[in-house]
Amino acid sequence: MRTRWLWLFLLGAVGLAWPAATQDGGTLDIYFVDVEGGAATLMIAPSGESMLVDTGHPGTVDAERIAAAAADAGLERIDYLVTTHYHLDHVGGAPEVAARLPVRNFVDHGLPTTTELDSNQPLYDAYVETRKSGRHLPVKAGDTIPIAGLDVWVVSSGEQYITSPLEGAAGEPNPLCGSFERKEETYISGGENGRSVGVVVRFGDFRTIALGDLTWNREYELVCPNNLLGTVDLYLTTHHGLSMSGPPAIVHALRPRVAVMNNGPTKGGHREAWQTVRSSPGLEDFWQGHYTVEVGDEFNAPEQFIANFDESREGCTAHWIKVSAAADGSFTVTNGRNGFSKTYAGS
Ligand SMILES: [Zn+2]
Ligand SMILES: [Zn+2]
Repeated sequence: MRTRWLWLFLLGAVGLAWPAATQDGGTLDIYFVDVEGGAATLMIAPSGESMLVDTGHPGTVDAERIAAAAADAGLERIDYLVTTHYHLDHVGGAPEVAARLPVRNFVDHGLPTTTELDSNQPLYDAYVETRKSGRHLPVKAGDTIPIAGLDVWVVSSGEQYITSPLEGAAGEPNPLCGSFERKEETYISGGENGRSVGVVVRFGDFRTIALGDLTWNREYELVCPNNLLGTVDLYLTTHHGLSMSGPPAIVHALRPRVAVMNNGPTKGGHREAWQTVRSSPGLEDFWQGHYTVEVGDEFNAPEQFIANFDESREGCTAHWIKVSAAADGSFTVTNGRNGFSKTYAGS
C-alpha cells in the first residue's frame, strides 16, 4: 500500500514538473540543411519530436547532410517527414534519408499531378516504396500535424487552401491585395509546385512558415482578400527565392523579422524575390543558404549571413543555418560555416 502511494506521489510530481520544464527551458530547433537549391528543413520540438520538411535531391549526398543535422540534434528517428511535393529537389532524398533514420509518419498531398508524371513517376514510385516503412498521412488544408509541444497547421495541400484564419491570426482584410498582379500560368507554376503542402508552425509566441514551392497565384489564396495566416517571426523563402513565387501580398503581410533563403549558387535568389523580402516592413535580416553567383554583392547579404560560398556541388561543404527559438518568441540564428550568430528579441 505504501509503495502504491509513493508511486502516485512520484507520478504526480513528474506530471507537475514536466510541462514547466519543457516550457521554460526548451527550444524549438530548426536546421535549414544545405541541399544546394533544394529543400530540407529539420525541426525539433522541445518534446524531442521531430519534423523534416523535404529531403533534398536523390542519392546519398543530401541524405548524409540531413543525417548530420539529425545527429547534431541527437535524433535517432524522424517522427514526421513532410514531403511538400514530388519534385526532384524535395522528395528525391526520401529513400536514402529513411535508410539512415527510421521515419514514423510520411506526410504528403496525396497523388501526384498527372501532367508531370513522366518526369516524376520514378521519384514518386521510389517514395511510395519508402513510405511503406511507416504510416502514410495524406493531409488537407486545415489539418494539423500532431507534434507534441508545437502547433503545426497545414495551410495548403493539393491546390486546396485554408478558408478561415489560423488561431492567433486576426483574418483582417489585406490592403496589399489591391496591387496584386497575377502571373501567367506556366508548366512550372502549376503542376506539383502549385500542389505543395504548406505549413505554419507555432511554438509559444514564435511562428514560422514553410510553403515548399507554392507559386505566386496560389499564395494569394492564403492572404487575399483576408490574411488567414497572420504574421511570422521567421520566413523561409518560398520556392528558393524564385520570382514565380513570393508576391509582396504574402511576404509583406507575414511581416517576417528574419528571412532564410534555401537557394543554391545558381538556383533561386532572383532579384525580384530579393527586393520583395528586403522591402518587407519590419525585416531585420536576410540569411542565405548560398551566395547567389548571378546577382553579385549588390543583392547578396553580408558575408556573415551566408552559409555557403562553394559554387559547385563537388566538394561543397554544405553548412546549415540553425535557428533556436524560445517560447517567448525570441530566437537565435547561427551560421554553421563561421559560427556567427545573432539573437532576435521576443516580439
Ligand atoms: Zn524546389
Ligand atoms: Zn518544385
